[in-house]
Amino acid sequence: MTNKAAAKMHSSSQATIALREEVLQYAKDRMAMDPAPLDGPQSLEYLRKHASGTITETGLGGHKALKVFDEVLAPACISTDHPGYLSFIPVAPTEAATLFDLVVSATSVYGGSWLEGSGAVFAENEVLAWLAKEVGLPKTSGGVFVQGGSLGNLSALVTARHTAIQERKKNKKKLPKRWSIIASKESHSSLKAAARVMDIDIVLADVDDEGRLRGKAVLKAAKKVKDGLFAVVATSGTTNFGIVDRLDEVGSAAKKLGVWYHIDGAYGLAGILDPKSRHLFKGISKADSFIVDPHKWLFTPFDCCALVYRKPKLAAAAHTQHGEYLDALTDSDEYNPSDYAYNLTRRARGLPLWFSLATYGVGAYRKAVAENIEVAHKIAQVISKRKDLKLVREPELSIVVFEKEGWQLADYQKWSDRILAEGLGFVVPSSHRGKPNARFAIVNPRTDVKLLTQIIDSMDEK
Ligand SMILES: *Cc1c(COP(=O)(O)O)cnc(C)c1O
Repeated sequence: MTNKAAAKMHSSSQATIALREEVLQYAKDRMAMDPAPLDGPQSLEYLRKHASGTITETGLGGHKALKVFDEVLAPACISTDHPGYLSFIPVAPTEAATLFDLVVSATSVYGGSWLEGSGAVFAENEVLAWLAKEVGLPKTSGGVFVQGGSLGNLSALVTARHTAIQERKKNKKKLPKRWSIIASKESHSSLKAAARVMDIDIVLADVDDEGRLRGKAVLKAAKKVKDGLFAVVATSGTTNFGIVDRLDEVGSAAKKLGVWYHIDGAYGLAGILDPKSRHLFKGISKADSFIVDPHKWLFTPFDCCALVYRKPKLAAAAHTQHGEYLDALTDSDEYNPSDYAYNLTRRARGLPLWFSLATYGVGAYRKAVAENIEVAHKIAQVISKRKDLKLVREPELSIVVFEKEGWQLADYQKWSDRILAEGLGFVVPSSHRGKPNARFAIVNPRTDVKLLTQIIDSMDEK
């Protein structure tokens, strides 16, 4: 080693070997916890007091730095994989997926191009092809794993607009002053964020009594758009309630309007794996593009969103970056994942899911998803039998929303704080049409009816 810094930081010196063992042991110990403590946030003052001053000219040494993480920083992070973590959308990676996430880091695989990462890209594409098959898209479909659903939705919509521009140019049509998309009132905030980034309008169509977007509502909303409508977005599993839009009707409406059909399945698309729930997704094969977040309900560590296009060439036309130093990549016909979304350098973040699927088989995934849905429906029954509790809606996938009679937001908040402090569960107050409620998002196979009942019972304790 001629580079002295490299000799210290990159070589297999005794100190490095010892640190390797220590850090891997830490990871092993964390993985062996069943479950890990729920933990919770700390104040800025607390963290300043106990974890400041770690960035120094000479370094603390790995042992000391790990100690700060173990004793101060990690306990200040909620364990999102704890079975009592039920807020937002939890995460519940399989053992194989977590282990392989370590390998992805250890091997420095570059996932942006075929030239550099063909093996990894091939494996990721096997997973995308499997997802496409479940959804019913043709073999020629393809896409990329991106950081999250927000980026997935944005990238799909950028492709949709680019395609609309190309079509209008080809047909010698004028380009509109404003571009627009239609989504439902129950759709995810990331679509509004995407519209802001793209400087386009988003029209929020009404939902039916069950919270679903229907074909008629899309056509009605389209009347509000004078010109420049280029996409309709359906949600296959709303984040608030886990309700699947009428994908068939919405797809037909999009076709009638002659626009791109995108399906946001970030949370709920995984539900298609449950044979009993599959019928809810009827018509999903009409999609021009879809996303699903394996970091939500396909048991994969953060951060991972699968983005799939019916015609990936359209995405490459919209997203491929050109530059002198990139010519070697872009002048070839090889499959470069970077070309299919707003990204360039990328971690091969689909590999942990690939390894886990290859390890356990798709059948294990079907069972795990089906069991989550079963648990959701069972706890909904328990709730509907309690006099003081009321379901806000019948659950469809694995999200259960309910109210407690007479409770104000402050009551939910107090209860939420208390059960987090006790390490029992993490259930932040949610709301529907201005009324506060409690919401369980169930995607962790370790979350069972017994624990959920215990959490419900805790509402009556002081
Ligand atoms: C979570 C979610 C998103 C955003 O995904 P991120 O991975 O958090 O960026 C988009 N749409 C739906 C329906 C979601 O549930």
